[in-house]
Amino acid sequence: MDDRKEAKNRIEKLKAEINHHRYLYHVLDKPEISDAALDSLKHELARLEGQFPKLVTPDSPTQRVGGQTLPFFKKVPHRAPMLSLEDVFDEGEFTDWIGRISKLAPNEKLEFFGELKIDGFAVSLVYTTSIFTIGSTRGDGQTGEDVTENLKTIEAIPLRLREPKESEIKNIGLDPARVIKTVKSGEVEVRGEVFMTKSVFEKINREQKKRGLAEYSNPRNTAAGSIRQLNPALAAQRKLDFLAYDLVTDLGQTEHSQEHDLLKVLGFKTDKYADKLSGAAAVKKFWEAIKKQREKLAWEIDGLVVSVNKNQTYAKLGVVGKAPRGAVAFKFPGKESTSKVKDIVVQVGRTGVLTPVAILEPADIGGVTVTRATLHNEDEIRRLDVRVGDTVIVQRAGDVIPDVVRVLTNLRSQNAKEFHFPKKCPVCGQTVMRAEGEAAHRCVNKNCPAQHREGLYHFVSKKAFNIIGLGAEIVDKLVDAGLVKTAADFFGLKPKDLLELEGFAEVSANKLIASIQKSKKISLARFIYSLGIIHVGEETANLLAMYFGDLKDLMFSSVEGLQKVPGVGEKAARSIKNWFDFKDNQHLIAKLDNVVEIQKMPKVAKKLAGKTFVFTGTLETITRDAAKEKVRLLGGDVSSSVSKETDYLVAGENAGSKLDKATELGVKVLSEREFLKLI
Ligand SMILES: [Zn+2]
Repeated sequence: MDDRKEAKNRIEKLKAEINHHRYLYHVLDKPEISDAALDSLKHELARLEGQFPKLVTPDSPTQRVGGQTLPFFKKVPHRAPMLSLEDVFDEGEFTDWIGRISKLAPNEKLEFFGELKIDGFAVSLVYTTSIFTIGSTRGDGQTGEDVTENLKTIEAIPLRLREPKESEIKNIGLDPARVIKTVKSGEVEVRGEVFMTKSVFEKINREQKKRGLAEYSNPRNTAAGSIRQLNPALAAQRKLDFLAYDLVTDLGQTEHSQEHDLLKVLGFKTDKYADKLSGAAAVKKFWEAIKKQREKLAWEIDGLVVSVNKNQTYAKLGVVGKAPRGAVAFKFPGKESTSKVKDIVVQVGRTGVLTPVAILEPADIGGVTVTRATLHNEDEIRRLDVRVGDTVIVQRAGDVIPDVVRVLTNLRSQNAKEFHFPKKCPVCGQTVMRAEGEAAHRCVNKNCPAQHREGLYHFVSKKAFNIIGLGAEIVDKLVDAGLVKTAADFFGLKPKDLLELEGFAEVSANKLIASIQKSKKISLARFIYSLGIIHVGEETANLLAMYFGDLKDLMFSSVEGLQKVPGVGEKAARSIKNWFDFKDNQHLIAKLDNVVEIQKMPKVAKKLAGKTFVFTGTLETITRDAAKEKVRLLGGDVSSSVSKETDYLVAGENAGSKLDKATELGVKVLSEREFLKLI
């Protein structure tokens, strides 16, 4: 048997296997193998295809990010118009809709199908002989734009339709022969929503912030912008998701619910909350239930899509304007409301940051009464041009503090007062500074009582000392009673001290003291984090602990020494040095050292100290960034080009000219496996 034939065989098998696992992961949400194992299958496929480029097919999992940057998007006429939905905003409007359609379809017991209305971007996907061929945006409903290459980057979209089993089709109540024939030799059109999960959105914004770039306003616009990228590689970075909700092609289905079932067996991820609902009352119940879960969902939704389940009735009800009569978007209460700014106050946080807060007339936003909204910083106040007395639009999203999105300046009265950012800390009266490149003003007083108190809250919080039962309220009482001045004082508290405070009895006092004592043992990483040093979050604390292994070494490290820690930049290094240079902090550390037990980290041996590494080619089991970080953590250096000073060249697959140069200079070359062994 020749190589090519063998490779072809293997490629087909690999593709089927990868598709099967994609289906298990995205559609059934029941992965059977790890991401790493799946990556390794993809890697083998890519390698074989590299050897036999003619065997690459458009549905190959390697083709997800294969597209070139486009000069513009082609126009695509839709086979059937992509309609929009009429909105209903409350139960009254919903009941009106039921009344209207009942009149048009009398003598019919109406059954509905309810599904989540995801705040995303509608697209149409066309599969020809099972292969994904054209993906387009809604556009004006008649004609959209060809965004096939960008859609291919979304893992939840199959590049080839899954061939359903006969039994699966029978279970849906359809004719297997008809379905399979159309899937294999005809054209199938599917519609659904492209969206970005909340967690991906937050991650992207964290990155933007880190790089000093503007943050995106919401997941919907970010997803839409990503799909309308001319460069598919950029779209791929956005980690978009997709849920299918409509099967346009007639495969014999008579109900909308059957379309959802069919889409699932064809390899699409569908809404797992979607359900058949037997009447208007059931729809309202479903709407209430989803509304309650709304904040917990992984993506933003703004209501339900409610459709008449029977396709014949749906068609009979017809279209009015651009919207079908047989379906509505049953919206949830808005996340925005208007309110009036009664006052603007400034809060001082743990790190001294001054945050302006708008005090509002109570406003109901989606069932929650809001009386305060953050104004973030002085720049934001200027941008909004918000004044005391203004009418503003307030937004609430998830668990975060509500914020002011707009000022309705037309409603401004003559008495509206401009706000001037304080030049002195509102708590301690000391000077306020704004560091270059930072949006925040900080109180520079290291003894500022506001900062101090916030620092104590941080010290006992979950990711720091995690003292259960010791919340902000009790910390306040302890500070006000003079029982706690510094964080070390928590550990000297006795039950009788607590009994002096309001709200404590013997049992609760004993319980809290036991909880404090229990938290005395702490890892070095948590200890560093609990100190609340500016620019030292959980992640940095971890890196510092791993690098130094011991608190003393960290305390006496220079700014340059600190910057050697991977992930620690100049800003953080200076901030750490400043913190440990401050006398009061040194006293605090000394006191804490007497009462708590810091578990030393097994110090990472600096076994690569003085060695310089260069990487080339593709590494299989570790990303290049992770490999570089490992080297730095072990005290080594990483360089980008090979020279006489290079100690090791780590050569992955497809190593290029660097390998030649290393051989020429006599630099030691390591394979990936040898490198891993070394570290
Ligand atoms: Zn202050």
